[in-house]
Amino acid sequence: MIQINDKQFELFLTKEQIQDKISKVAAQLNDDYADKSVLVIVILNGSFMFASDLIKQLKFDNEVSFVKLQSYNDFSSLGNVLELIGLNTDVEGKDVVVIDDIVDTGITINSMLHKLHKKNVGSVNVCSLLFKPDAFKGDEAPKYVGFSIPNKFVVGYGMDYNQKGRSLTEIYKLKD
Ligand code: 5GP
Repeated sequence: MIQINDKQFELFLTKEQIQDKISKVAAQLNDDYADKSVLVIVILNGSFMFASDLIKQLKFDNEVSFVKLQSYNDFSSLGNVLELIGLNTDVEGKDVVVIDDIVDTGITINSMLHKLHKKNVGSVNVCSLLFKPDAFKGDEAPKYVGFSIPNKFVVGYGMDYNQKGRSLTEIYKLKD
């Protein structure tokens, strides 16, 4: 059990479970993208650790780029996504893999996919370490998923609670 600010979290996924799963996801990507040249887009901040461990295991030719997105709600609409750091690479005709830490409602990733399609990307698939199927409101689940998890708040391995907890090497979930 750990405490971050006012909340208690319990261990959910160990280092070993995370690293084993990443090797499996990397193997899938290596099979599917063998002989391709791929633009890997990492969505900051939460996926920096996952992306780092995953990308080290990729065997196909790749370029890596980063975007920073932030979802926000205002009074008039739900699910606006702000681009804090934009994509500075041309995506037209490219095979793209988008790396995310966690797909929850899917609003963030949907907005990214929408932008990529508007820029005439060649192909695009999403690779997310975690996926919350019960919270997901999108049409299509990510193609590459590490763990499908219950609708509980998690922290660690890059993911934060009020900016804390990112350096943890395990993933913890909020205690009931
Ligand atoms: P979505 O737009 O799919 O609802 O949310 C995506 C983003 O919200 C994730 O990339 C992540 O930054 C944040 N998020 C969603 N669920 C969690 C969670 O359980 N823990 C943490 N730390 N962040 C989350």
